Amino acid sequence: MDRPEVDELTPPDRTLMGPGPSDVHPRVLRAMSTPLVGHLDPAFVEIMDETQELLRYAFRTDNQWTIPVSGTGSASMEAAIGNLVEPGETMLVPTNGYFGGRMADMARRAGGEVVEVDAPWGEPLDPADVKNAFDEHQPDVFGFVHAETSTGVRQPSVPELTSIAHDHDAYVIADCVTSLGGVELRVDDWDVDVAYSGPQKCLSCPPGASPLTLNDRAMDKVLGREEPSRSWYLDLSLLEGYWGDERAYHHTAPITNVYALRESLRFVAEEGIEQRWDRHRDVAGALKAGVEAMGLEMNAADEFWLPSLNAVRVPDGVTDGAVIESLLANYDVEIAGGLGDLSGDIFRIGCMGHSARPGNVSFLVSALGETLR
Ligand code: PLP
Repeated sequence: MDRPEVDELTPPDRTLMGPGPSDVHPRVLRAMSTPLVGHLDPAFVEIMDETQELLRYAFRTDNQWTIPVSGTGSASMEAAIGNLVEPGETMLVPTNGYFGGRMADMARRAGGEVVEVDAPWGEPLDPADVKNAFDEHQPDVFGFVHAETSTGVRQPSVPELTSIAHDHDAYVIADCVTSLGGVELRVDDWDVDVAYSGPQKCLSCPPGASPLTLNDRAMDKVLGREEPSRSWYLDLSLLEGYWGDERAYHHTAPITNVYALRESLRFVAEEGIEQRWDRHRDVAGALKAGVEAMGLEMNAADEFWLPSLNAVRVPDGVTDGAVIESLLANYDVEIAGGLGDLSGDIFRIGCMGHSARPGNVSFLVSALGETLR
């Protein structure tokens, strides 16, 4: 077999305004090119501590158990569900978007039974429906998606949802993949037991190490399981040995991704978390105003609008794929189309982290306007 001849890597220089990843700041890329140390090096142990402290700040939590899980957002998602849901237990999941379906799949693979609370794609869950589902099914675990990337809907009334669950002695898992660092999220004040996220959305960090936080109540459940979680790699009782006080080997952490996450989270702390939520709302507000001024319609009602992911309805007679391709080919801008029930019906335009800048918004709005003309 001939030796392959492949050129040195020169990826295109895109503006990332899709559902993630978002643009990465050069400082984060520089952090990734700093020297590698070992995953048990005392210097890395200090970096782990700092990353955990920065993550607690971003999540608005004092949870001791706050770590980056090795892998993408689906890894922190599966760590949450696969450890919380024990065989034979019931998990209540939402049907109002793509990622509720993934929660259901993971809960079944963990040996759980799945029951659903319905809402149409493009709308949030109604607390009254959640309460009815609790009364009917008495689930052990309730999962919901705080920022549904497939529909551009923000779930309001989170404290109401968590109090329904706690009145029924259940545990709450919140999918915060598209909200952490971009949309108001208060894990402790809102009484969320477990929250997971991904780094490549509002934190503007390359994928690879994904935030997860659990309160003591949830961690007690995990540590008291009758049988171990079905995944060895994501077993939190084993990961505790590495991320807890002991700092003993479990697996080799993705060191460079932890560097990147630490640097991205330093940006969050420098800006201030609340100021960052405000920036996302203001910059995405300009994007929303721009597309509406063009005569386009948002998919979500204003009360549930998700600044980090703007779902814009594809106008009649327009093929979404052709617009998306043209933006990429002619303007080097990435946006995406709809998923599942909304496939072909919406454009998904992200406004996340370092991508959430006024210059990007004017550029995108004019490029989209030109393309649709
Ligand atoms: N949950 C939500 C709401 C997401 O948007 C995503 C990814 O887009 C995930 C989970 C899964 O994350 P990943 O693709 O990083 O595995």
